[in-house]
Formats: sequence, structure tokens, C-alpha cells
Amino acid sequence: MGVGATECEVLVIGAGPGGASAALHAARHGLNVIIIEDHSEIGTPVHCGECISEVAVKNLNIDLPEDVISKHVNGIRVLFPDGTAKKLSEPGYVLEKHLFERWLTEKAESEGATVHLSHKLTSMERIEKDGNFNGWLCEGQGDNFPFEAKIVIDASGVGGVCSKLLSLNPRPKVIAGMQYEMLEVPTDDYLDFYMWPKYAEKGYLWMIPKCDGRANVGLVTEDKPRTKKALDEFIEATHFKGLEQILPPWKEKGNHAFGGTIPISGPHEVTHYDGLMLVGDAAGFTSPLFEGGSHLALKSAFFAANTAAKAIELGDTSADNLSSYPELWKNEFPPYEKILKGKTALYSLSDEEMSVMGRCFPDEMSSMGLTGKAMVGIRILLRRPGLFFKRIIPAMLAFGYSRAKYYGW
Ligand SMILES: Cc1cc2nc3c(=O)[nH]c(=O)nc-3n(C[C@H](O)[C@H](O)[C@H](O)COP(=O)(O)OP(=O)(O)OC[C@H]3O[C@@H](n4cnc5c(N)ncnc54)[C@H](O)[C@@H]3O)c2cc1C
Repeated sequence: MGVGATECEVLVIGAGPGGASAALHAARHGLNVIIIEDHSEIGTPVHCGECISEVAVKNLNIDLPEDVISKHVNGIRVLFPDGTAKKLSEPGYVLEKHLFERWLTEKAESEGATVHLSHKLTSMERIEKDGNFNGWLCEGQGDNFPFEAKIVIDASGVGGVCSKLLSLNPRPKVIAGMQYEMLEVPTDDYLDFYMWPKYAEKGYLWMIPKCDGRANVGLVTEDKPRTKKALDEFIEATHFKGLEQILPPWKEKGNHAFGGTIPISGPHEVTHYDGLMLVGDAAGFTSPLFEGGSHLALKSAFFAANTAAKAIELGDTSADNLSSYPELWKNEFPPYEKILKGKTALYSLSDEEMSVMGRCFPDEMSSMGLTGKAMVGIRILLRRPGLFFKRIIPAMLAFGYSRAKYYGW
């Protein structure tokens, strides 16, 4: 045992949606759980557009309190470069994400988990007993280190601290995201997602409405150095021009713009190891087209917590005994590679070709059955047969996979 180490059964790294969910579910199993969070408060800085579908909330059995909800929304409207707009209607929420994360962490605490803020994991050392794996000794910056844990759940986000410390996975490719909170933004309660490569290369732009006329207006783009410039140019060229940009409620001073990065290489090859499971962004779980990750983080954390409880009960927390974790997420999450192919095909289209495709979609895309998809195919064939050589079918299907039931949001 580490000298003076605080012992626990599960040590959760990070108190984002993944960490809070992992701690909550592990604590519900009666495990002794500690969460450490690098920042001095939960949920800030926010690095999220803050939307989550109703399907996600039901899937996760969350009794979302009204005070963490900023707005109830009706779904996503996809806007193509020529202004063509098509809807993917399905209800959801725009959260005050920092309040949501605080609420979820408090729920974990009320089930018995202990939270240590301003605690950053910087190293982990394997503990063995009689030649067998017996836990992790974790060191870092913060008054209560070291911790000794039977199982570590890495929910440290895109930084993926445990992958880095143990050289488990290569660094993921990331896309940059940035947004402003703006005032008096017109809305009919849809999330507006703009496919507009001119501003968002291999990404998209959004207007995510909040209460009191506020909205997050932002983008993700692979052209990282141009992120802010591209967002400013988009605002200047659209009806967002001249609207007031404000500091979000959790920020007292500094720049109006806020954001972060999102992993886009897909799920990591290694998501479990001796006494370790990776969840959420730390495992590379994000939706390939619209890059949402909260639903995936919350659900993967649920799987990891359940796996941890079983392993601890059996008294064997080795990688072999945690192998049901990758099985669980692989059976549940949609095929990343397949959707990625669709996304790649989509971004091989010019602005004009993307608009032609958009015009061939029905006004409501959420209920396209087989016949509906065939109709779209026929329309494209008649209007622009050449698009079939650009693998338009997978590109079209990528929109279908952006629905909530496929963990799109
Ligand atoms: C601009 C932008 C917009 C987005 N919009 C949406 C959206 O609208 N909907 C959606 O579903 N997803 C969205 N996402 C993605 C979403 O934010 C993430 O997928 C989600 O937050 C992942 O949750 P997580 O718990 O895995 O990681 P995170 O939320 O990143 O939480 C990780 C936590 O770990 C802490 N941490 C990191 N390293 C350490 C360490 N060494 N020790 C201790 N603590 C540590 C961090 O401080 C952080 O609090 C967006 C992302 C960006 C960048």
C-alpha cells in the first residue's frame, strides 16, 4: 500500500458528464468512490454547445431538474450552403451545462461519492500482490494525494490522461470548437446546424437557442488556426450580424469566445486495462457527424461503473475481468467507421453539390423510411447523376445516424 494513501474502490478522474455519471452509478452499487477534478469548480469553463436529446435523457434514466434546462427544443434543422433547410425533428434540451454537471456530481455525492476539486492526476503506479494486479497508486497536484484505487475510471476528456501516462493509445485527432453567447437571437426552438464548408471546413456551424433570447452561436472546424476568424466572418455574413455578444453566466471576465477540442479519430483501440476503464471523450466516444459527446460519455460511464461493481465483487479487477466493458459499448454504440465514411463523402462535396443533395431531401428527414430514402436517391439521379460517383448514399445516411437513437446528440 502507498504510504499515507487514501484508499477507495473506484477513483474517477474528471467531473464532466462522464465522470459524474461514473461516480453516481458506482456509488449506487455501494462502492467507495472518489472523484478528482482538476478545476476548482465543477462544470466550468463550459466547452459545449449544451444540447442533449430527450432520447438521451430517457436512455440514461435521468430526472433532469428544470433549473438545469435552459430551453426545450424541437430538434435539429440542417441548413445547406444555398439556404435550403431540412428538419430532423425530435425533442431535446439545451442545458445550462455547468449547472447540469454540478447537479449530476451532487447526485453522486448524495449517493456517497467524495469529490476533491483542484486535484489533478499526474502519475499512476501499478500495485501488485503475489504477482497479480492489485490496484493503482495515483499521484498528482492537490492536498489529498496519493490515492490508492482498485479501479480507475478515466473521464478526463479529450486530454485522456491515463492513455497518456500509460502510453495506451496514440493521441487522437481533434477538431476545434468555439462559440459566442449572443442576445436577441431569433428562434423557433430548433437547433440550427449549418453545413457550410466555406466557414467550417469538415465541420459545421450552429445556433443553439437558450432562454431569454440567448443562444450559443459557434462552429467546429478542422482549420484550427482560422477558428475564430471563420466564426466572426460567418456572423458578419448572416442575420447574426450586429447582435450583442455577452459573457456566459458562468464567466465574469475575459474573452466572449469559449470552446475546446473534440476527438474525431473514433473510439480508442484500448478502452480497458488492468484496473482501468476509459469513458467519454477520454475513450474517443463522440458522434462522427455533429461531434456531440455527452450522451456517449454518460452511457459509457454507466457501463464502466457496472463493470467495476462486478469486478470488485469478484475480487478480480484485471483487464481480463473488465473485458465486458468494451463488449458493452461496442454492442450499444453505432458503427463509427461506417458513419465516418459518410462524413468523408459528405465533405468531398462542393458547396453547390451539398446544396443539390439538401434540396433532394424531404422537408422532414426524421421519418425517412426505405421508400423515402429511395425517393431521395431517384431525385438525385435525375438532378445530378454524377453525385453517385461521390458516394452520395453514405453521405445521406450520415444524417440518419445523427439522430438521438444513434447517439447523435
Ligand atoms: C465547442 C464544443 C461544443 C460541443 N457541443 C456539444 C453539444 O452541444 N452536445 C454534446 O453532446 N456534446 C458537445 N460537445 C462535446 C462534449 O462537450 C463532450 O463530448 C463531453 O463534455 C465529454 O464529457 P467527458 O465527461 O468525457 O469529458 P469532459 O466534459 O471534457 O470532462 C473532463 C473533466 O476532466 C477534468 N480533467 C482533465 N484532466 C484531468 C486530470 N489530469 N485530473 C483531474 N481532472 C482532470 C477536466 O477538468 C474536466 O472537468 C461539444 C464540445 C465542444 C468543444
